[in-house]
Amino acid sequence: MKITRRKFIGNIALGGAAVATFSLVACKGGKGTATTPEKKTEALACDDVSKLTEAEKKTRTALKYVESTSDGKTCESCTLYVDNGSGCGGCKIMKGSVHPKGSCASYSKKA
Ligand code: SF4
Repeated sequence: MKITRRKFIGNIALGGAAVATFSLVACKGGKGTATTPEKKTEALACDDVSKLTEAEKKTRTALKYVESTSDGKTCESCTLYVDNGSGCGGCKIMKGSVHPKGSCASYSKKA
């Protein structure tokens, strides 16, 4: 079987197109072959009080601590907040971890 130059070049072009198509499917439309970093949406929970004493739990309750607030008076903007760099922070007047977006009745805005 004799192959002409024209046919040979045509076959190379077809092969290149097939490789390019396969690459696009594998990277963009293929199932499970390509991974894109997803934004971490895991909720931060800072309400584990299992290691606190009953008195410490009562203090949290008395201060009406909540894990989130919509009034902008968040722990992270409170002068009593202790940012320990691990997501959940601490509080100078209350034991246990506190959520950066949490709040309580003793909120005191940072200067
Ligand atoms: S005093 Fe209240 S608002 Fe301030 S950091 Fe502690 S828990 Fe959060």
